[in-house]
Amino acid sequence: MSRSASPNLPVARIGEWLREHQQAIRRLQWAVVVFYVLLLVVPALVPMPDRQSHIWSNVVLFAQFIFWGIWWPFVLLSMVLVGRSWCGLFCPEGALAEAASRFGLGRATPGWIKWKGWPFTAFACTTIYGQMVSVYQYPAPALVVLGGSTLAAIAVGLRMGRGKRVWCRYLCPVSGVFGLLSKLAPLHYRVDQAAWRGWGSEAGRRAPAVNCAPLVPIRTMRGASACHMCGRCAGFKGAVALEVRSPSREIVEVAGADPRPWETVLIVFGLMGLAAGAFQWTANPLYVMAKLAIAEWLIDHGATMLMEPRWPWWILTNYPDQSDMMSPLDGGLMIAYILATALVTGLAVSAALAVAARSLGRFETRKFHHLAQCLIPIAGGGVFLGLSALTVTMLRAEGLALDFVGVMRACLLAGAAAWSLWLSWLVCRHYGASLPRRIASVAAVACAVMVGTVNWIALFWIW
Ligand code: SF4
Repeated sequence: MSRSASPNLPVARIGEWLREHQQAIRRLQWAVVVFYVLLLVVPALVPMPDRQSHIWSNVVLFAQFIFWGIWWPFVLLSMVLVGRSWCGLFCPEGALAEAASRFGLGRATPGWIKWKGWPFTAFACTTIYGQMVSVYQYPAPALVVLGGSTLAAIAVGLRMGRGKRVWCRYLCPVSGVFGLLSKLAPLHYRVDQAAWRGWGSEAGRRAPAVNCAPLVPIRTMRGASACHMCGRCAGFKGAVALEVRSPSREIVEVAGADPRPWETVLIVFGLMGLAAGAFQWTANPLYVMAKLAIAEWLIDHGATMLMEPRWPWWILTNYPDQSDMMSPLDGGLMIAYILATALVTGLAVSAALAVAARSLGRFETRKFHHLAQCLIPIAGGGVFLGLSALTVTMLRAEGLALDFVGVMRACLLAGAAAWSLWLSWLVCRHYGASLPRRIASVAAVACAVMVGTVNWIALFWIW
C-alpha cells in the first residue's frame, strides 16, 4: 500500500520522514523529559545564587534562563513558524501524558473536561498564581507550577484515553495560546477530501490505524490549531500531507466558519489584557500610588496586619533572605490590577470589534468572532515581548548591553499590528464588503490593535 500523499514535494517528505521515525522521536522526548526534570528539581534543592553568580556557573540562574528566558518565549515563537511541532515532537508534559495513558485505565473523557472554557480559565489562573508566587524568580514556585501541571497531566493520562493526550487537548494551560498562534503557521497537514473518499472506494483496501494522540478528527481537519504536527498521519489514505500554506489562510478562510467565543475571550481578555497586566503591574506608577494610599488608610484604621507578609511562599512570595516578601495588601492589589487590566482592555477591544463587525453590515456574532481572530498577531506579539523581557533582563545582568532591543521591540510590535490589520482587511474582503465598509471596519480593528499595543508601549517606553 502506498502511503505517499504528495511524494514529489520536499515538505510532504518531511512529514513522512517524521511518520517513519516515531521511535526516534519518542527517544528524543524521553531525553527532553530527563532534562526537564533535572532543570525543575535540582535548582529547588540548592541555595539561591549570590551577587557573584552567573548563568553559566549557577544552576538556579541557568535553569531560570533556560525555562523563562529561552524555553517559553521561543516555544511561543515556534508556534508561528512551525505550528505545534513543539507539542508533538518535544514537549515533556505531552510525552508523559501520552505514555501514562498507554498504561492507564483507559476511561472515557467526562463531559466537564471537554468544557471549552478551560484553556482560558487555566491560562488566567496559572498566570495570576505565577505572579503571586514569583514563578519567574524562584525555583520552588517553578517546581510547584510546572511540576504540578506535569503531575496533573500524568494523572489525567493514567485515568483517561488509551495512548491519548487528553490533558493537552482539553486542559493544558497553554494549549489555548498555542492553538491560536499555530493558526498563523505557514505549515500544516492538509487533508485532501477527494483522495480520502477515493481511497475507500477500492474494495479490500484497508488503511493502517493512526493514533492521533491529541484526538484530532483527521478527516475533517482544516487547520493547524489542534494538530501537534507529530507526522503520524502523514500519507494516511494517500490524503494527508504536510504542506506549505499562506500564513493568512487559516484565519481568513477557516476560522470564520466555526466561531469560537472562548477563543475570542482568550485573545481579547487573556492575551491582550490579563497577560499585559501580569507583566506590567510592578512598573505602573499608578499601582505604587494606589498601594501607598491604601497603606496609609490601613494604618489610620489600625489594620496593619494586612501589610505584613504572613503567608507561606507557595501562596504569596515570601523570601526574607532575599528581602522579597508580599503582604496580603500587595497580593490583593496585584490580583485586582491584573483583573482590572484584563477587564478594561478586553471591554475596549470588544467594543472596537463590535463596531468593526457592524461596519460590515448587519451585526453578526460570527463576524465579531472572526475579526477577533485577526488580533492573534498583536496579542501573541505582545506576550512574546513580555516573556522575552526576562531574557533581556538576565542577559543585561550578565553585562550584555543589547542596545538594539528597543528598536527590535518597536519593529516587532509594528509588524504584528500591521499583520493584524492586513488579516482584518482580508477577512472584510472575504465577506464581500464594499470598499467604504471595508475601510470603516479595518479602522475599527485598528482601534482594537491600538488598545492592545498601548499596554506594551507604556511598559517598554513610558514607565
Ligand atoms: S492530525 Fe494528529 S496524527 Fe496527524 S500530525 Fe496532527 S497530531 Fe499528528
